[in-house]
Amino acid sequence: MSSVQKALEIALGFGYQIDPSALKLLVKLGEKRCKKTGEADPSFEAIIKEAIALKGKSQSGLTIQSRDLKEAFPIIFDFVDTPIVLPEDPVQTEGNFLKSDVEVVKDPSGDIQPTGIEGFAQLFKSRYDKILHILMERPEARQITKISKVNMEKGNVKIAGLVFGKRPTKSGGIEVTLDDDSGRTTVLALSQDAKRSVGEITLDQCVMVEAEASQGRLLVKNIMQPDIPSKLASTSKKSVYVILLSDLHIGSDKFLEGAFMRFLEWVGGRSGISEEDQEIMRRLKYVVIGGDVVDGVGVFPNQEFELSEQNIFKQYEMVYEKLRLVPKHLQMFVIPGNHDATRQALPQPMIPKKYAESLHKLENLKMLGDPCLLKLDGVLILSYHGRSLDDVLATTPGLSYEKPEEAMKVLLRARHLAPIFGHRTPIAPETEDHLVIDVVPDIFHAGHVHTVGQDRYKSTLIINSGTWQAQTGYQANLGISPRPGLVPIVNLSTLDVVWKDFLTSSSINSRQAG
Ligand code: FE
Ligand code: ZN
Repeated sequence: MSSVQKALEIALGFGYQIDPSALKLLVKLGEKRCKKTGEADPSFEAIIKEAIALKGKSQSGLTIQSRDLKEAFPIIFDFVDTPIVLPEDPVQTEGNFLKSDVEVVKDPSGDIQPTGIEGFAQLFKSRYDKILHILMERPEARQITKISKVNMEKGNVKIAGLVFGKRPTKSGGIEVTLDDDSGRTTVLALSQDAKRSVGEITLDQCVMVEAEASQGRLLVKNIMQPDIPSKLASTSKKSVYVILLSDLHIGSDKFLEGAFMRFLEWVGGRSGISEEDQEIMRRLKYVVIGGDVVDGVGVFPNQEFELSEQNIFKQYEMVYEKLRLVPKHLQMFVIPGNHDATRQALPQPMIPKKYAESLHKLENLKMLGDPCLLKLDGVLILSYHGRSLDDVLATTPGLSYEKPEEAMKVLLRARHLAPIFGHRTPIAPETEDHLVIDVVPDIFHAGHVHTVGQDRYKSTLIINSGTWQAQTGYQANLGISPRPGLVPIVNLSTLDVVWKDFLTSSSINSRQAG
């Protein structure tokens, strides 16, 4: 069935007709776009539904006319008729406001040096060394004793190592196995405080433990995490804004195209801009997209039944068709997620040209790896897809998908983006552990869990930027309720956040608190 026929059928399903001029417009749109994306253009469904919703609201009859389509999504139809010309804006052209102030501080794409299986020993050695170095910056961490040198009979001792295991004991305590480069030992948490501290650390992270030796046992007195220091966040001198997005899942039949088009309309200055937004629009400079831009192919069993497009190349072409509508004065950055077509093990190199050629060619879009550290107008943004949040949420008591920011704090305290090894997050054997958070970011951005979150931890702003995909069957089974269509916009001069809701046409000007 052609997409125009499909559009007619959808309209009829709601009791609407499409008038010939509107049909002609759809055919024109179809011709324009189908060269690239193939037969059934999923946009049509979103366009028709939006037009029907608007008509229903204004009670303007049961025939969809061309102006109804243009009203629903001016940006799409403008695109058919005329190229987009951005209005000149005094702020944007004033002085060198637009002069981009971008530094890619760290991108694993170029640094990856995979080794064989024996590389895991090197990887963990690197993790231990790097985090020990971070721990040593604190005065309490001086006098660390190597595990092989510990006197197990008496006295207080400080040791630092990777948490190799946690195990409840018969006496109601928790036994923690620690590993440093000299050996391995166990420490025992007996007090409530000690047991709570053990609950807050993840497997395979590096910690320092202060223990009391007594008759061949080491009793935990205190656990110290590397953590981030309290400092002042860096902010930009001028008031400029960055939009943080993630988890578009284009190609999924649950991709909320209507919501995403509304966002594109807004960001393109077309519609939905309130007076309050004007200032943001004039000072908006960057868009960071934290992975899962496509739904991918073969990511999980039977995924083909949940895709609107089964060809990975075409999925990226569809992403291009959307992101090309983002005004050219906005610099975009795209990192991959676990649904993208690149190495799955962390760190992930950028989505290669092979799969996403047109995205690579887009002049205002930069492809980067996951995780990556950016400096935008002097503000350090650590953007990480967030695969390991699943493992942190599954293994840390008291955490839930409703508050992903709490899981992100666990990573900041561990100073590691994916501490837990051998669960759901694949980690590549590398000579250097690139997942250590050695530089403290001003903004820590992640996605992946499809729920939103915002918090400040010490001086770092934490944002989880949600999704554009409606609830999947998989999430329904897990009881996860996604919060799609919400967009956090951060003022880099204050690190204040405004959330805009694009889920429905009436929600756009409601502002959400994080
Ligand atoms: Fe995702
Ligand atoms: Zn993901």
